[in-house]
Amino acid sequence: MIRFCSLGSGSSGNALVVEIGQTRLLVDCGFSMQELERRLARIQLSPEQFDAVLVTHEHADHIGSTGPLSRRYGLTVYTSPGTRIAARDNRFAHIQELQADQPFAIDDAWVHPFTVPHDSREPTQFTITDGAHRLVLMTDAGHISRHMVDIADRADALLLECNHDPAMLQAGPYPPSLKRRINGGYGHLPNHAATDLLQRMDQSRLRHVVGMHLSSDNNREELAREALAQGLGCALHETEIATQDEGFAWRSTAA
Ligand SMILES: [Zn+2]
Ligand SMILES: [Zn+2]
Repeated sequence: MIRFCSLGSGSSGNALVVEIGQTRLLVDCGFSMQELERRLARIQLSPEQFDAVLVTHEHADHIGSTGPLSRRYGLTVYTSPGTRIAARDNRFAHIQELQADQPFAIDDAWVHPFTVPHDSREPTQFTITDGAHRLVLMTDAGHISRHMVDIADRADALLLECNHDPAMLQAGPYPPSLKRRINGGYGHLPNHAATDLLQRMDQSRLRHVVGMHLSSDNNREELAREALAQGLGCALHETEIATQDEGFAWRSTAA
């Protein structure tokens, strides 16, 4: 059984908690130490109760206080060589370099890092499995690659970016260069890409889908819900969205 919850999702900070057996992982730490501890306290946890931290890429909303966290609590950081280089100011106490598409174990958890098209040095997103069920985290991707569809196939739980509505992005307050960055193929997934991925993948095992990393300026929750509902063939009220402030509550692959 995999248990997982989000402490917050969006461009102001991301962190995901994953538990398998006796193993507890933090995926990304895009908050200050104080804010991370405050959010962990909401679920009666503290940083010393974690076994390791996985970092997807060096953008501040993901790497945040990973360095101080690692040093203060002696946590090993798992990340790609490129992310390590790009994050050189964020000194880690212990580091374990990972390679895309080379699965590895952290105690009871199996982790499969996979590549996504995103404008950072060497980003990887993660599949985490207990052997029976598979959780797929898929955010910070500029478009849906064939590889991402393969990874999503037959997932039990999918945490999928629904970053923006293209019309809202175009009409919105961002400068042209930032608009181009976001929708240029190596930025962030628009709502309709989430629909597209869901329609292309094998959904036969899919029990949990949560819309992630919504833009506060260029998206609205109901638009992301519509995109997920269309991709899943379900009603709007059955869709789930992670928020910047709350993330989402515990769920489990056994439920
Ligand atoms: Zn991000
Ligand atoms: Zn990013």
